Amino acid sequence: MLRDYVKTIKNVMVTKRILYLFVIIFFLCFSGTDPSRESQFRLKTVVIDPGHGGKDPGNLGTGKFKTYEKDVVLAISLKLGKYISENYDDINVIYTRQKDEFIGLKERADIANKNKADIFICIHANSNKSSAPYGTNTFVMGLNKTQANLELSKRENASILMEDDYVTKYEGYDPNSPEADIIFSLYQNAYLDQSLEFAAMVQKQFKNRAKRKDRGVKQAGFLVLHQTTMPSILVETGFLTNKEEEKFLNSENGQDYLASAIYRAFKDYKTVMEGTLPANFSPNEPMQIVDGIIFRVQIVTSSNAISLDSPKFNGITNVQEYVSGGWFKYTAGEKRDLASAYRLQVEVREKGFSSAFVVAFHNGERINLQDAIKMVK
Ligand SMILES: [Zn+2]
Repeated sequence: MLRDYVKTIKNVMVTKRILYLFVIIFFLCFSGTDPSRESQFRLKTVVIDPGHGGKDPGNLGTGKFKTYEKDVVLAISLKLGKYISENYDDINVIYTRQKDEFIGLKERADIANKNKADIFICIHANSNKSSAPYGTNTFVMGLNKTQANLELSKRENASILMEDDYVTKYEGYDPNSPEADIIFSLYQNAYLDQSLEFAAMVQKQFKNRAKRKDRGVKQAGFLVLHQTTMPSILVETGFLTNKEEEKFLNSENGQDYLASAIYRAFKDYKTVMEGTLPANFSPNEPMQIVDGIIFRVQIVTSSNAISLDSPKFNGITNVQEYVSGGWFKYTAGEKRDLASAYRLQVEVREKGFSSAFVVAFHNGERINLQDAIKMVK
């Protein structure tokens, strides 16, 4: 009896050992073939910032609705956060406000910084003296390039006038002063590349998914973006001073569309920045090489042209430049299949470009990575 028992135990142990051996062999065989396994970045925390609130109503719209900018953007923000939480258990969604309350611009940025957010999304709605303009914009932090952007950023920044001690808090920034912009002149946007990518994805989804007029990706001096230490965007979801758009922004359906568009962009951004192969894509499956489609790894974006042999590129070979939206963008390598591009991304990240990501081109034109993946599958 006892002997049988010992024998069974021994058998179980041997079986277990064989099983472990198989598991180890399996990992030895397959680890390293999946480039996505080696990528370290995981998007874990998102901070969503509904603009204005409490004593700061934001813009008042046409007056036809009983709601203001602060109400509309809160509704869209909460829907966006809900989409993310429902679809990703492992992502921490933090709001700067979840109810109608006043929060200073610096405090909003502090919430993102303290929580080490991987991405910061500010949601606003636009206004204009004329009722004609409509459509969506997404902004990244930068110097105001046009009078219209300057006016908009001053309007959005003006909420600091309702904060105590705004002069010391914002280093003398005065939204009413003609020289208000000067504090932004020394600003270096370390996350410009990622912020621009995300902004472009949001605009694309607004246009395709929510059928909004695409007013483009812009840069302007927003105080709330100025203070953050991660990729950050400010979304203007539409004009509350335009009758039709105000109606859309106030409707449940409209808010759903806008939130879902930002959510889809978020999903794309997460995939690109994590540098992982799509879930239904086996690393060992041969991928199609499609004529005209190539993949490169983007390493730097700059407002000025950089010489291709600049030491800034840290000895990376085959650096190429392309210009998009007025920005000079630099890529490493050139691969015809996606898996090699992801392997190159790992190498480039190890050389110090920790947020480098794969970009796709079709006949020399930059295209969306997800679209390229569909073409090579
Ligand atoms: Zn606003």
